[in-house]
Amino acid sequence: MGPIGNGNSHIHCRILQIGGNSLIALAVDLVLHLLIEYTVKDESFVQETANQLSEAYKVLADYFTLKDIVLLRVIITPDRAEFDQCVKEILKIVIEVPSNPSRIGLCQKTDLIVLSPLAWDSELYTYTPDFYRGFLYHEMTHLVEEYLSKDIEKVTRWWSEGVAVYLSGQWMFDHDLQEKVAEGIEKGLLPSIKEMEGQEREAVIRAYTWGWTIVKYIECTYGRNMVTKIVKECGDGNIFRVMAVGQKTLEKRWREWVLQAGKGVYQQHE
Ligand SMILES: [Zn+2]
Repeated sequence: MGPIGNGNSHIHCRILQIGGNSLIALAVDLVLHLLIEYTVKDESFVQETANQLSEAYKVLADYFTLKDIVLLRVIITPDRAEFDQCVKEILKIVIEVPSNPSRIGLCQKTDLIVLSPLAWDSELYTYTPDFYRGFLYHEMTHLVEEYLSKDIEKVTRWWSEGVAVYLSGQWMFDHDLQEKVAEGIEKGLLPSIKEMEGQEREAVIRAYTWGWTIVKYIECTYGRNMVTKIVKECGDGNIFRVMAVGQKTLEKRWREWVLQAGKGVYQQHE
């Protein structure tokens, strides 16, 4: 196959037949090597997947000043059963089986398992190139976070999801997310950081909804170097130690910043 992307000659995609209906595409960039495994039915997504992940990686590598050569393996699974099996056997992550229809991608270390857009629950997701791009960008952010992190398992959800939602630009396009944030700002009801932690459903939703606003606040106030520092140095989950600021103080300043910025928090152009 020819070059992928808009005339970017650094990225090439080679497709190798490895028997049956299993194919491999290898996209090679200067710093990112992508191995994409898929079945024939998802052939049309391969180039797009390689393209979007490469683009995302470039932006993230620039953000985090990452210069290492990274090899990532992406598996586009044709259905829910294959997805669950890859999650279990390759990622070694234990999730419910069959997994929740809201799960369409999961990553661990340098592996990313994607559920084919053809197998998405149509009541939950509709494939559009923009949505797929945002989804892959979100997952790529997680991969980079884990690559840089000393111990991703210890990192609190609101931070890791916050970084992924913020840096992938998901907050600019996810209307459901924006509505929740808008409502919270309007009513002056922002959760505490403690309420974004924990495993119960409400806490998980708060972590996804509000985590990125803390990341954005930190970037706007302290600069992207602080975001990078936390991702790289926070090996024990205590981001306040890395920032040398107390949790209550940060929380108070973040609330004030959000309430003052109002719509500017979630609108693209401030
Ligand atoms: Zn995520």
